[in-house]
Amino acid sequence: MYLGVKLYMHAPFNRCVECDEIISNPLCSECLAECMKSMVQEYNPALAEEISGFAIEGDTTCISCGQGMGLCAHCFSREIYEYLQEKDAAIAKEFSSRFDFNLRTLADFA
Ligand SMILES: [Zn+2]
Ligand SMILES: [Zn+2]
Repeated sequence: MYLGVKLYMHAPFNRCVECDEIISNPLCSECLAECMKSMVQEYNPALAEEISGFAIEGDTTCISCGQGMGLCAHCFSREIYEYLQEKDAAIAKEFSSRFDFNLRTLADFA
C-alpha cells in the first residue's frame, strides 16, 4: 500500500521535453532568461540583449510567472551556456560558475 502511494507520487508526468527528467524546480525559460540576462549584463550588455526565453508548452507550471512549461532549467541553461561559449568564452565560464547547471540557488533568487 505504501509503495503504491510512493509510485503515484513519482508518476511520470511533468517531464522535460528534452532530457525526460521530472521538472523538480519549475522555472520557465522566460523567467530563467531574465536571471541570466542580468548576470550577463554585468559583463556584456549587448550580449545580454541576445538572451531570451522561449515558451515550451507543458503540464508543469512555472513557480515564478505561472505559465505552463515543458523544458527543465537544466536543459535551458545548457542551451544558453553553449550560446555564450560561442560568443564569449569568459562570460560562459562565469555563467557556469554562477549557475553551474544546478538551478536550486537560481530558484531562490527568482
Ligand atoms: Zn531537461
Ligand atoms: Zn516563468
